[in-house]
Amino acid sequence: MAEGGAALKVARVAPGRFDFSAAAGPIPVEVIECARSELHDWRRSGTPVLSLPFTGDAFREVMTETEAYLRALLGIPDNYRVLFMHGGASAQFAAVPLNLLRGGRRACYLDSGYWSGKAMAEARRYCSVEVAASSADTGYDRVPELPSLRSDAAYCHIVANETVNGVQYHAFPESGDVPLVADMTSDFLTRPLDITRFGVIYAGAQKNLGIAGLAMVVVREDLVGSADPATPGILDYAVQARHASHYYNTPPTFAIYLAGLVFKWLAERGGIAAMEQANRGKSERVYAAIERSGGFYRCPVQAAHRSQVNVCFHFADDALTQTFLAAAQSEGLFNLAGHPSVGGVRASLYNAMPEAGAETLAQFMTAFARRNG
Ligand SMILES: *Cc1c(COP(=O)(O)O)cnc(C)c1O
Repeated sequence: MAEGGAALKVARVAPGRFDFSAAAGPIPVEVIECARSELHDWRRSGTPVLSLPFTGDAFREVMTETEAYLRALLGIPDNYRVLFMHGGASAQFAAVPLNLLRGGRRACYLDSGYWSGKAMAEARRYCSVEVAASSADTGYDRVPELPSLRSDAAYCHIVANETVNGVQYHAFPESGDVPLVADMTSDFLTRPLDITRFGVIYAGAQKNLGIAGLAMVVVREDLVGSADPATPGILDYAVQARHASHYYNTPPTFAIYLAGLVFKWLAERGGIAAMEQANRGKSERVYAAIERSGGFYRCPVQAAHRSQVNVCFHFADDALTQTFLAAAQSEGLFNLAGHPSVGGVRASLYNAMPEAGAETLAQFMTAFARRNG
């Protein structure tokens, strides 16, 4: 793997303040410290990292290293391309049908919640969307099973982790010869993956990989190069795949630089397997506080389908939600409100949430239940 300079310095964490926002994951303090020190001078090159020209050798080095770290972390096989794209995950909602329909008229989507709905709405601009299965009828309390698939579907799309509803695939559906496409915006790099199961994986960067403005796309080679002729260049996988030799336009340089630091941070902490273990421990603590509460807190998601990164729950008495959120904030536990479409409470436990954050939240929940139950 390319060596990205010295190891990140271990920074002191500000004690007692934890941010559980779902919309943007915490950035590891070591990453912030390193970025701060390089803002004015990238690796003693004299060039501020904020203004690295994308055409120069320094940025090329950043790009190469960032890709090498990601490939090593996930064990991405050689027949997959790694793309750094603009427009977040939402641009991929359009890029996927534009690149993958290959003349076909039909795509299959599994409806597991809020982000599935967004992805389908965008795809309907380009093709006929077959909702192969949905868990809407049971209030998205689980991920839907994939029934037998129509073989004329150009691809099959899932949302690996539904950030709003708190449901997650713990086993991925078998889609046979139909390429499986996964939106992993909220759980990319939170657990090991068998990449070969997928045609395309994409993820907006702001939850586990750094800051907004970047989407990572991992795409199997044979799916690159057949985009609809009307595809905007910026969304065409083949155009983007040429980045190593030729950039289509200015990439989100700072977001890519920061993602590279996050990948390095992950590697220094034992990689993805270590993250998964930590994430399981963090989420189990919070789910255990729910189970121990004797019905005071209720998690609507079936146990086998619960997310390890977005833990959602509500109160038997909804009037307690605001009291809970205010009390939590006064103890340093921030941004715990559920998504407006579902209400209640949501604790997001992305990679950079320390185990102490989950532990502090679980203890707070138990004390709050005792006071208000
Ligand atoms: C946050 C999120 C998105 C939206 O990402 P943008 O980068 O804002 O477009 C899409 N899918 C999932 C699963 C998400 O969690």
